[in-house]
Amino acid sequence: MKPKVIVTRNFSGKWIERLKEFADVTLWQKDAPADREWLISNVKGKDGAIVMLTDSVDRELIEAGKGLKAISTMSVGYDHIDAEYARKNGIVVSNTPDVLTDSTADMGMALLLSAARRIVEGDRLVRNKGWKEKWKPDFMLGLEVSGKTLGIYGLGRIGKAVAERARAFSMNVIYYSRTDKRVGFAEYVDFKKLLSESDFLVVTVSLNEETRNSIDKAALDAMKNDAILVNISRGPVVDEIALYEALKGGNIAGAALDVYTEEPVNLDSPLVNLENIVLSPHLGSATIETRDKMAELAVTNLIEALKGNRPKYTV
Ligand code: NAP
Repeated sequence: MKPKVIVTRNFSGKWIERLKEFADVTLWQKDAPADREWLISNVKGKDGAIVMLTDSVDRELIEAGKGLKAISTMSVGYDHIDAEYARKNGIVVSNTPDVLTDSTADMGMALLLSAARRIVEGDRLVRNKGWKEKWKPDFMLGLEVSGKTLGIYGLGRIGKAVAERARAFSMNVIYYSRTDKRVGFAEYVDFKKLLSESDFLVVTVSLNEETRNSIDKAALDAMKNDAILVNISRGPVVDEIALYEALKGGNIAGAALDVYTEEPVNLDSPLVNLENIVLSPHLGSATIETRDKMAELAVTNLIEALKGNRPKYTV
C-alpha cells in the first residue's frame, strides 16, 4: 500500500506527478494558502506532509497529524514549523537549502543596488512624467557601492553568497554571526561594530527568538546616517515601526525589504508611503529554475524520509 501524504499547495506539475508514483496524494487545489480547517482535517491519517512557509505547522497541527513520519517544507526557513515538537514526536523535518542560495543572494544584491541607485524611485518618476531634463549634474544622485563596507548579519549559506557578490563589486565585507567562521573574504566583527561600520547592512540571519526584533530602534540608531538596510531573511527580524522612524527621521538613508512582519505587507503600513525604501513581495527564491529545484528537493526529501532513509537536509 502506498503511503498517504498531504501537499498544502499545488506546485510544479512534474514533481507532484513524481510524488504520486510513490504516494497517495491529497492536494489543496485552490490558488491560495491552504485554509486551517482543511489542514487540520486532512492531515489526519497521513504519513507525510509537504508544507509551505505560509502554513503554521504548530502543535495543534502536529497533534492532528498523529502518525506523521515526515514533514518536508518547500523553503529553507522553518520558523513556521514547531520543529522541536515535531522531532519529539518522532517526525523527520526537512527543508530545501542550497538550491535557493544563489537566487536569494542575487535578490539581495538587486535590492541593495536598487536602493543605492534609486532605480525604483527613478522608474516611478519616469512613469509619472517627472523626468523633465535630459541630464543634470545633481539629478537623482544615489550612493556609490564600490569601495564601501557591506555588513552581513548572519553568515550562513545566503550570507556567504551575498559576500561573494559584494567582493565582485569591490566592497569590503564584514559580518556578524553566532560563530566566527574564520573566512578569508570577510572580517568577523561584533554586532555593535557591524551596525556602526556598515554602509550597507544585509540581513541574512534565520528567524529565531534571539534574532526576532534584533534590528530595533537601538540597532538602527547605531547605524550610519547614510547607511542602507536590506532585509532578505524574515520580516520579524526588523522592527518595522522603528525602521519607519529611522527612515523618516534620516537616521539611516534608505532600506530595501523583501520580507515583512505581515505578508502581504499591510498597505496601511507607513513604510509603503516612504520614497527611500524599495519593497519587493517576498521574491528571494522566485526564479523558474530555483522553484523547480525546491519542488524537486521537497518531494525527494519526503520520499526519502518515508522510505526510512535520512533526507539530504533535515532540521
Ligand atoms: P543558514 O545557512 O542557516 O544561515 C543562517 C545564519 O543565521 C547562520 O549563519 C547563523 O549563524 C545565523 N544566525 C542564526 N541565529 C543567529 C543569532 N542569534 N545571531 C547571529 N547569527 C545568527 O540559512 P540560509 O540558507 O543562509 O538562509 C537564511 C535565511 O534566509 C532563512 O532562514 C530564511 O528565513 C531566509 N530566506 C529568505 C528568502 C526570501 O525569499 N527572502 C529565501 C531564502 C531564505 P551561525 O552559522 O553562526 O550559527
